[in-house]
Amino acid sequence: MQGAHFLIQNFSYVSNMALFNSYGLICEINPNTKGYTRLTISTNIPFKTKLIKFNVWDTLLLKKLGSTRSSVMIPFKVGEEVQVEYSYKNSYPQLVSMVASRIDNCPVCFSSLEGIDAQRLECDGCRLIPEEEHKKRVNTQMQVVSKTLKQYSNSAGIKLELFSENDNKAFAPVIFPNNFAFQTVENMKIKHKYWVAGWIAPNGKFLDVVDIY
Ligand SMILES: [Zn+2]
Repeated sequence: MQGAHFLIQNFSYVSNMALFNSYGLICEINPNTKGYTRLTISTNIPFKTKLIKFNVWDTLLLKKLGSTRSSVMIPFKVGEEVQVEYSYKNSYPQLVSMVASRIDNCPVCFSSLEGIDAQRLECDGCRLIPEEEHKKRVNTQMQVVSKTLKQYSNSAGIKLELFSENDNKAFAPVIFPNNFAFQTVENMKIKHKYWVAGWIAPNGKFLDVVDIY
């Protein structure tokens, strides 16, 4: 029933456009007064986290079967692991389908992969990237030394100075509004310590912030 619905609704552009497939975590479901719901999926690609933002007009796409035994549809919730299928229309991603799915992360590059019960995950993401270009994943406490709002070429951003006792190193990442952590960064207090998850570049200097909490 659900499948047929997608097929009819999306047939025209699915038939002549590439379909993309990502595994990720729902981090925003936000209905607005314009009639659509902003759905944001956070997905890991090799050594990076990206957000896919959809404007969803068809609320049926935001629901899943309550159980395998019934046909009752229940809404997806923030924090759920999902698989999304989408295409691009004028460079905007268009949601085609969303289903609940268990996710595993590659232990090397953290790519979001379909959750499988196998011992070893096959990850195409980092297999194609030379080892010397691999970044190092960190999830460690850092102290905020300074915080400056600056205007960059495309948007405003917050330049941070963070000190990691663990690495005995200072980092100066810039957090832009499209970063998942932006709101947390706006409210950060100088001298306080926060947990920082992210990637350190192979040269050990640059920190790419994924999340701060
Ligand atoms: Zn990988």
